Amino acid sequence: MVHYLGLDLGGTNIKAGVVDELARIVSKGSVPAEAAEGPERVVYNMVRVGREAVEKAALTMAEITAIGIGSPGPLSVERGVIHNSPNLPGFVNFPLRDRVAASLDAKAVLHNDANAAAFGEYWSGAGREMQHMVMFTLGTGIGGGVVSDGVLLRGCGDNAGELGHIIVHPEGRQCGCGQNGCLEAYASATHTVRRAEEAIAEGTSSTLSSLDSISAKRVAEHAQKGDALAIAVLDGAAEALALACVSLRHVVEPQLVVLGGGMAAAGELILAPTRKHYQRHMWKLQDSHPLRIKLASLGSDAGFIGAAGLAQQIFPE
Ligand SMILES: [Zn+2]
Repeated sequence: MVHYLGLDLGGTNIKAGVVDELARIVSKGSVPAEAAEGPERVVYNMVRVGREAVEKAALTMAEITAIGIGSPGPLSVERGVIHNSPNLPGFVNFPLRDRVAASLDAKAVLHNDANAAAFGEYWSGAGREMQHMVMFTLGTGIGGGVVSDGVLLRGCGDNAGELGHIIVHPEGRQCGCGQNGCLEAYASATHTVRRAEEAIAEGTSSTLSSLDSISAKRVAEHAQKGDALAIAVLDGAAEALALACVSLRHVVEPQLVVLGGGMAAAGELILAPTRKHYQRHMWKLQDSHPLRIKLASLGSDAGFIGAAGLAQQIFPE
């Protein structure tokens, strides 16, 4: 059996896992990233949690074929370098791939974290058995990834799959990226909360107004209990997602769209209206391959699994 080590670097934690060639998790672990301490500390922690995962799998580094690393970008896959990242202080043109590879004495690949998570769902999660899949990671922001014919699309500058910045409402809400009307300004956890707060400030009555602070989870809970504002906010997020799905359908014709990240914890409350709006907006010409929309199935393991899978693609042994 061939084994890969997947490392998923987040702003808060580093997740590591040993994954075999059939995408089965052999061992896994997690440590704080301590990103505020700078890149040297982060590399130290990545190496430590990586070694621990390999030991837990009763293997040695010599038995690991390659390492896959998922990291916030922007980054260069080709050079294995983080250009700079708002969530990783001090990472300026930092050669993360080669630093980790040298410390663990193994070959390594580096990919954008959301791309890696999408590849993980394709390889062993909701997209298993599919060859054409798009994933949205609906978190604080929105990331994503596109797998076409079994290949993760990277684009000319390794920035393909920035699905949160597809414009769904021209003249719409301002996004943190500077554009107006991005998907992220409607369907991220951050903007879901903000839209609820804005509506309450404008006088819309809602059971959410009795809370000290609103979170995306609370919006989902109150929607479940029938609060009209919470339902409307989630419906707006779902419609924005559906519009992005329609555009993606025309570009890459996926078999499946997967919804992951914190907002996907709302389950049917986000899934059902997204499907409904997709049917409403999608063209009515004959469609022999209807698009399926499902929830992600790997949770926060998707990143290291996908990173390992991407390492396998480059270093199949
Ligand atoms: Zn944007």
